[in-house]
Amino acid sequence: MTKLEYIRANSIHDAVQLLSDPAWKSRPLAGGTDLLVQLRLETPTYNRFVDISRTPEMKVIEIKDNIVHLGAAVTFSEIIANTLLSQIVPFFVEACRSVGSPQIRNAGTIGGNVANAAACADSLPSLVCLDAVVHLKSFKGERQMLVSEFVTGPHQTCLEEGELITHFTFHIPPSHTKNHFIKIGRRNAQSISRLSIAVIGGLDENGLINYLRLCPGAATPKTVRFYDVENFLLGKKPAESLFVEAGERTAQTMIAVTGRRWSTRYKEVALRAITERALRAVFSGDSSRKHIEVEQ
Ligand SMILES: Cc1cc2nc3c(=O)[nH]c(=O)nc-3n(C[C@H](O)[C@H](O)[C@H](O)COP(=O)(O)OP(=O)(O)OC[C@H]3O[C@@H](n4cnc5c(N)ncnc54)[C@H](O)[C@@H]3O)c2cc1C
Repeated sequence: MTKLEYIRANSIHDAVQLLSDPAWKSRPLAGGTDLLVQLRLETPTYNRFVDISRTPEMKVIEIKDNIVHLGAAVTFSEIIANTLLSQIVPFFVEACRSVGSPQIRNAGTIGGNVANAAACADSLPSLVCLDAVVHLKSFKGERQMLVSEFVTGPHQTCLEEGELITHFTFHIPPSHTKNHFIKIGRRNAQSISRLSIAVIGGLDENGLINYLRLCPGAATPKTVRFYDVENFLLGKKPAESLFVEAGERTAQTMIAVTGRRWSTRYKEVALRAITERALRAVFSGDSSRKHIEVEQ
């Protein structure tokens, strides 16, 4: 078993100092729900954990000037318990509620979910839909970028050695919009996403779609908004036939990116169905279906 040192950071400044200490090859440790699992599977390339899970500045959830500020060490359970987030971005809260089990949600953090960047990471579709910005800090300074640019592929990000995700920011969606998240897993709970989708949508005074953001999860190697489907829906009147057409276009956009693979026969049908359902929930208020569907 590899011997690893452990040290706790008491502030962001502290964490950045410790992560850039040349005497050690350090790695941020938040909830450990990915990192400690990986430790069993592969020999670590680092020799010290810098525990950032209790760094006060990284545990903040606040709204200033219509912008949500979400600390990177905030756990899924803390997000679920936050009533303001449930009011303004229920789809993000639903995505967090769908993660693992209560134990995983009590320890797992939003920063860890994005930094680990699994293609099936449940927070990504709603964060990408919100054009959320990730804020980074290292001894070289601070920088920020869209989450959709930060995550470059499965388990790949722009994070540099010694760099820390400090927080995320995103604008509150316009008040006339609704948002919805659906996840398909192999079972009702403690289930990794087979597919998911996040949608935000709103109508103008004539009942035409004037705001639409759509992002599937675990569908393409990189989690991205499907702009072609968004543009197809903008300016149109919500209707069953429109939802069906949008579902088909979403499935075809996925296949255009991934090509036909062993899972396509299933994912094509399933993505079509959850796209229709999410649009129906956003535009006709029929959000009766469960947010977590079990793969048939
Ligand atoms: C049983 C089980 C079920 C799970 N189910 C789900 C699920 O349904 N959906 C899902 O999306 N995930 C799931 N996960 C994965 C995991 O729980 C999440 O990805 C979680 O968000 C990881 O956060 P963490 O705080 O535990 O990260 P850690 O394990 O502490 O860290 C993960 C990685 O991110 C880095 N890191 C962490 N915080 C920062 C930071 N602030 N700055 C820079 N780098 C950082 C670490 O160095 C490490 O490389 C599951 C895991 C387990 C074990």
